[in-house]
Amino acid sequence: MTVHGFADLHAHPVAHASFNSAVLQGAPWDPPGHCNHSILSPISYSVLGTDHNKNPTHHTKIHQQMFADQYDRLYDAGLRLMVCSFTNNVLLAEIFASPEAYDHKNVLAQLCALRELVQCVPRLAVVGNAKQARSAIANGKIACIISLELDRLFGEPVHHAEDLSHSHELISRQLDYYSSLGARIFHLAHVVDSPICGCAVYEDLFNIASAYLKYKFMCDCGQEDYYFKLQCASKEDGYLFKPKNTTLLSTLALGPDFPQTTSYAYGEYGMRNAVGLTAAGVPVIEQLRQKGLLVDGQHMSQKAVDEALDLNTPLFFSHDTVRFVSQSEEQYRETENSRTDEQLQRLPSKIIGLGTGTEKDTLCKFFDQAEDLIHRGYTVAFGTDFNGLGGQPKGLDYIPAVGPSVVKGTPYFLRDGLSHYGMLADVVYYLKEHRPLIYCNMMQSTEAFLQHWESYAPNAPDFDLHTVRTT
Ligand SMILES: [Zn+2]
Ligand SMILES: [Zn+2]
Repeated sequence: MTVHGFADLHAHPVAHASFNSAVLQGAPWDPPGHCNHSILSPISYSVLGTDHNKNPTHHTKIHQQMFADQYDRLYDAGLRLMVCSFTNNVLLAEIFASPEAYDHKNVLAQLCALRELVQCVPRLAVVGNAKQARSAIANGKIACIISLELDRLFGEPVHHAEDLSHSHELISRQLDYYSSLGARIFHLAHVVDSPICGCAVYEDLFNIASAYLKYKFMCDCGQEDYYFKLQCASKEDGYLFKPKNTTLLSTLALGPDFPQTTSYAYGEYGMRNAVGLTAAGVPVIEQLRQKGLLVDGQHMSQKAVDEALDLNTPLFFSHDTVRFVSQSEEQYRETENSRTDEQLQRLPSKIIGLGTGTEKDTLCKFFDQAEDLIHRGYTVAFGTDFNGLGGQPKGLDYIPAVGPSVVKGTPYFLRDGLSHYGMLADVVYYLKEHRPLIYCNMMQSTEAFLQHWESYAPNAPDFDLHTVRTT
């Protein structure tokens, strides 16, 4: 039976258990204003964000934004499928709290946290394949799929100049292990180059992380005809990105002997990673395919995405943006992590998770990009990246009338921006009333994703969260 309802293809509902439990304040079952079991040093607040003791805001980086009591409301608005991404960032965890923030340790911690979350929220059902997802949804649940968004997927050492070359057997064993823990979607790179492929580089954080973990900065293609720009990509600015306290983070991570911040100034154009798909990456993609595991192309370098498409890799993108200039906002911050026209034409399936935006954007960007993709024949899902430390879109200066469906007392997302996950329901009600084209399309996104899953991973095994061993 066809499923009616929207999907969020990228969120971090248990990110509080990531980063050695050191970065995100508060758990999903805490009341919104009580996130004060702080591990972080005060210095982290100035680097990553503030408001750790208050309610979350749209620009919060370190305050929990996804609460257990919001899922019923999201279900009522039509949420039927959510990708729960297990992530980690060794740099942030080690700098701000504790050493040895290995990825596999953090995957297990997030799996335990997900079990706790599902106990609080019986509405959530973690599934291993599309068949399980369909039956969970038919029973009134939100199907939840585990994905891995890690830097060192195969247990490569951190603080090591070279990636180890892995044997076929070792890769296979590691994929089987993660699959036994329920992971069904794999990012091939996150914020540093992996042994599989280069990552998309669009913030100083990525280069700092690379220097911290691998003793090297990312290398740019320097191609003159690269047609999109990163913010402030001029020689006069010297640097592409200067977030307020990158210098501080860089000093903490790399010490005073390293450059205070990384120069991206290659002529007029934005940085693009010279590393594509590696020789080791090709068999990994083949193994993923054979084992019924999906590849999420988000965070792969442009070169890696192009090369993976040459190999007919069934990529999908979970929290993407499109490189175009919108009508309602002058220019977007398009980066290597955004899809080119050519890539969009070459994608094997027509489902795309669209990022809601960061704290510098308004939701207008999301609306414009969704419409653009719908006109190109895509089905659009959310790719909110909530709790992903990237911030959420801010409110509008001008607030159009919102429908009666906005619950009394809920801050208007149009005024305040997307402060927490529950407000996604307001966005959906707003779309239903004011942007029906987007609404109708998005309500087909769960079905579109399930069809993608069925066609590219027909042999994905069942998964049972309650019996899986986490030690
Ligand atoms: Zn991401
Ligand atoms: Zn993420």
